[in-house]
Parts: sequence; C-alpha cells; structure tokens
Amino acid sequence: MSFTLAIIGRPNVGKSTLFNRLAGKRLALVDDLPGVTRDRRETDASLGDIKFRLVDTAGLEEVDNASLAGRMQAQSEAAIAGADICLFLTDARAGITPADKHFADMMRKSGKPVILIANKCEGNVGEAGALEAYELGLGDPIAFSAEHGIGTADLYQALLAFTQGFEERQDEDENEDKEHPLRIAVLGRPNAGKSTLINQLLGEERLLTGPEAGITRDSISVNWQWQGHALTLWDTAGLRKKARVTKKLEKLSVADALRAVKFAEVVVLLLDATCPFEKQDLHLADLVAREGRAMVIAINKWDLVDDKPALWRKLREDIARLLPQWRGVPLVGITALTGKGLQDLMPAVMKVYEEWNTRISTGELNRWFDFARERHPPPAVQGRRIRLRYVTQPRSRPPTFVAFGTRLDALPKSYERYLVNDLREAFNLKATPIRFQFRQGKNPYVKS
Ligand code: GDP
Repeated sequence: MSFTLAIIGRPNVGKSTLFNRLAGKRLALVDDLPGVTRDRRETDASLGDIKFRLVDTAGLEEVDNASLAGRMQAQSEAAIAGADICLFLTDARAGITPADKHFADMMRKSGKPVILIANKCEGNVGEAGALEAYELGLGDPIAFSAEHGIGTADLYQALLAFTQGFEERQDEDENEDKEHPLRIAVLGRPNAGKSTLINQLLGEERLLTGPEAGITRDSISVNWQWQGHALTLWDTAGLRKKARVTKKLEKLSVADALRAVKFAEVVVLLLDATCPFEKQDLHLADLVAREGRAMVIAINKWDLVDDKPALWRKLREDIARLLPQWRGVPLVGITALTGKGLQDLMPAVMKVYEEWNTRISTGELNRWFDFARERHPPPAVQGRRIRLRYVTQPRSRPPTFVAFGTRLDALPKSYERYLVNDLREAFNLKATPIRFQFRQGKNPYVKS
C-alpha cells in the first residue's frame, strides 16, 4: 500500500520545513543547494512506520516574479489532484489570512481528505494558536511546529486513521465488482406472500432465466432486469416449498434466512398487513441489521386493509418501538396479488442500496464531526475531558465509521447515540444500517 501526501498552503507557512522534516535530513541538504528551483518536489518519506510519497509546492516560494500567484495556484491544484490526502498548513503566528482562505477553498472544492495543521505553534503561541484555523472549515487543526517537532504524534494519529481507511478502501475497491447485478432477497414468514411477490416481480422474465450454477443446489436465484438495472433475486419461496414437504425441515428456515441475507445486498422484508411485526418478523429484521444489509419493509395484502392511514401510523410507531435501529427504513404498501404498489418498491430498493454504498470524504466527515462536537461536546469524566479527534469512513456497504480519540472507554452510550443520529441527519443516511466504532489512537511517541 502506498499513498501520496501533498503539502498545501500559501507561501511562508512552513511547508519546506515540514517537507524536510518528513523527508529526512539528507534530502534537505540536496534541495537546499542554491539555484535549485523546482515547482514541485517529490520524495519518499515516512512518519513512524507510515510510509508515503510526499509532494510539496514550496519551491515556488523562492520564485519572485509576477506570475507567482498563477503558478502557485496551478501547482497547488495539480498537487491536490495527484494526492490521496493533503496536509493543509497555516501559520498560527500570522493568523488566518485571505490567502489561506483562498487555498482552503481550493482544498474544499477538491473533495480530497485533508489534515489541517496550524504550524508555528511553538513557544508562547502554544496550542491556543491553532484555534483560529477552525474558521477555515477544514476540520480540527493540529497544533504543530515543523521546526520544533511539536504535534508529530497527533499528525501520526491522523495519518494512521487515514491509512487504515485507505487500505481497507483499496481492498474493497479491488474486490468489488461494480458490474455485478444488485442482489435482492425477499424474506418473510410463511404466507406473507413471498412467492406471489416474486412471481409478480418477475412476470414473464422468469422464463428467460433459470437456476444459477455456482450457488448451492437447494437455493435458487433468478436474474432479472428493472428499468435497465441488472438484478438477481434470491428465490426464498422456492426454498420454502421444499421445506414444506417435511415438517422437520422447518427448522432449516433460520439457516435459509441467514443464507439469503448473506447473499443479498438489499433485503425486502415482506410483512402481512393483517398480522404485521410478529416475533419472526422482528427476528428477521434483527438478522438483517446484524449482517449489515440494506432493507426495505414491504407491507403485503394492502388490499385487505380498511383504514390504511391508521395502519400506516401504527406501523411507523411499531418500527420506532420494536426496531429502533430501523427507524428510518422505507415502508411500502403493496398488493402482491395484483401488483399494486410495486412501482414504489423497486425505487425504494434502489434508494437504500445507494445509501448503503455511501462514501463520505474524510474532509467532509470531519467538518461534520467538528460541528457535532461543538454543538454538544463530549462530557468530562472524573474531571478529565474525553478527546475525540478524527473520524474516517474505512468502508461502505454498510457505511462504517471509525472515530479516534483518547479515554474513549469512558464515552457514554448516550454520546455515541447522539453522534450516530446526528451523522444520519447530516448525510441523509436514514435508511441504511451504519456502524460507528471508536478506536483509541495509538500514539507511538508516548510510552504507555
Ligand atoms: P409465501 O409463503 O410467503 O410464499 O406466500 P404465498 O405467496 O404463497 O401467499 C400466501 C397466501 O397469501 C396465498 O394464498 C396468496 O394468494 C395470498 N396473497 C399473497 N399476496 C396477497 C395480496 O397482496 N393480497 C391478498 N389478499 N392475498 C395475497
């Protein structure tokens, strides 16, 4: 795994010093030779055990001519475009200048992950010097001194969070076959109407396909198209018909359900409107949440319901009460028998699928994180503040977030809930399960 890190910032914030510190001394000597003017410098560098390709635009600072601004702009843009992550430097002694804001805008527009560094925080400037950098909207600044080596432990931690996400992302991108058909399973109690729904969905198309090779013999999946989207449907109904033959096989249904859920990206949980949310339905919903799949709840036999608005309200209440983890799940009323309401089912499936695949950039995520903590700071426990520093999203499917900080074992559950709910609101992740983990940042510079 190798990633490219670019140092970005207006002239004179200390990019060269940081570059040299990360690159090691030898290179500094070479590059400090007079007459060496290069627009961009690049080298292999490391911080602790993290290795990366380092790029900066500092060479430009010595070029004193009218075109400096334009070239600086172009070079910074190029460096950002080529980077996997950027270190954005400000000068804590000078404070935030219009030029900082200009570069910060460029940074924001790029959407690249960024770590904000308030440089020159040594001496009487101290950590407080970093505060002003918040206003750039690039997340939580690290109080730093490239010259004195202050803040490297924090920088290490931030890079570590990024690399963990980066590695997992790379693995996932390699494994993820973007062309594969979306896999859907319809789950529900016997008689909910699964066979009816599947037959209705497939219609004539079913004749075009058949049992697929490569999947265990007693399971059936069917390929199918919906408005140009390739889909594979797990035919649970086919399974159950077999199971019906002998009562003994009923016990298999949990394993079957699990297999269907593992197969699926989106599960359609089919409930019977005349008896919704029985125990088995709740178990299935729990199973889907545990496995981290996306879900849509379809209420079947909607034709048999007299007071539809009343039932709808009750269903929403039931979900909030019985399945709080699914509070935002899409609910669709359907009549599988006639196909009524099915036009709403597939769009709901596509929508949760999209949410389930959501990726949020580290920069965006940390801007949210800053706001969330500002509005409602983590509590102090036994007089000591719990520090939350960064959050990254190492995975999607379902969206998985990791927050780094210290004393996290003392973080109350209520605060976790606050963060998760707020994140759902902020990024419109209402329907998909999400995972939010906390990790104590490893700090290689502090002996434990
Ligand atoms: P499965 O066990 O989940 O596969 O359920 P089936 O598809 O076999 O359906 C069970 C029963 O419910 C059958 O008698 C269906 O005709 C009936 N059914 C299915 N969908 C509907 C519907 O939308 N409205 C009504 N009134 N009955 C339905």
